[in-house]
Amino acid sequence: MWVRGGQVFDVHNGTFSAADLRVEDGRIIECGIAPSNTAEAVDLDGAYLLPGFIDCHVHICVNTRSPNPNNPWRDALPGTIAIWAAGAARRMLHCGITTAREVGGWDYHEIAVREAINAGWIEGPRLFCAGRILSQTTSSTPYFVGMYEECDGPEEVRKGARKQLAAGADLIKIMASGAMTSTKYERADAIQYRPDEIRAAVEIASDNFTHVAAHAHATEAIRNAAECGCRSVEHGTFGNPEVYGLMKKHGTFLVPTICVSSAMLNDPQVSANMPQHIHDRYTGLRAMRIANIRLAHEIGVKIAMGTDVGTPGNHAGDNMQEPVMMARDCGLSPAETIHASTWNPACLLGREEEFGSLEAGKIADIIAVPENPLERIEALHDVFFVMKDGAVFRNDRVRGA
Ligand SMILES: [Zn+2]
Repeated sequence: MWVRGGQVFDVHNGTFSAADLRVEDGRIIECGIAPSNTAEAVDLDGAYLLPGFIDCHVHICVNTRSPNPNNPWRDALPGTIAIWAAGAARRMLHCGITTAREVGGWDYHEIAVREAINAGWIEGPRLFCAGRILSQTTSSTPYFVGMYEECDGPEEVRKGARKQLAAGADLIKIMASGAMTSTKYERADAIQYRPDEIRAAVEIASDNFTHVAAHAHATEAIRNAAECGCRSVEHGTFGNPEVYGLMKKHGTFLVPTICVSSAMLNDPQVSANMPQHIHDRYTGLRAMRIANIRLAHEIGVKIAMGTDVGTPGNHAGDNMQEPVMMARDCGLSPAETIHASTWNPACLLGREEEFGSLEAGKIADIIAVPENPLERIEALHDVFFVMKDGAVFRNDRVRGA
């Protein structure tokens, strides 16, 4: 099959050029010119083709319409969470996310969703799952009953990491600092796991050919995560030139998740009914977070796009608000933003030989927008074509697709 008539984005030099892509057995096998007499073709005349976007930070099991994060599934039936997660996965795929890193599920429903996607029962991105988040004893673990594995000290952390892998996790997620979406007794700028505990998680992850994602707002938590060998720092809020410099030195990826505040504010019902202390944190730190992501980018930290879908009002399917903000507010050019949403995440996952660019030999994950996103980044909101693994999941130009 040929995907024909579009402008194809080259993630390495940040430009579009006219080309047709030949797709066979789920892979791009040729980037060239389709023969005019070919019968098997998808016509995308004038469209701008990008590699499928990769969201490095999602929580598909969390009900984002519930304003209070305190145990949102208290009254749920056992199957309800998985059904919600399946819906979230489908919405993400249809907005252009062909791969996502699930960095904190809910009682492993997200692993069941990953398996169902892989088996072709349901539609969704290719998922890489962390299972439960490893956390120290804190007031927030009962807040998210199905989301955390409480373990203190290196021995318990090792066991906790092994438990996630045994449950089917692809990576390990840890809390290196407190969170914002938490109880009033937990501070986001406080250190949680100490270096010996972080190292224990990194050891188990690397023993098993995978990596650790570290939730880290606090300055010292960013330092600990970078120095102990975590692959990524999630949020990175209270960074400074010194710790961002350390991330650059160690090759640690930053997953900014900057759309969290505006996503909450854009949903008036969620915003009005949120616990006051979380609402205040989201609004109070917004400007500083944007300024610090800009700083990290200037320093040369590798940035990988992640939305934190799952926080209140941060709905699956609205994922493109994050790259749009990265380009509009955080100092990344549109080409850098697309690179940070495709190639960098593929490198973070260690899968850049499989996906993350539109090149011969790569898995055929292709999305299309009608306008040039280098000229107007908001065009990312208008994805009308989604191909994953060589199969078309959305094509608004074909009736009934
Ligand atoms: Zn998160």
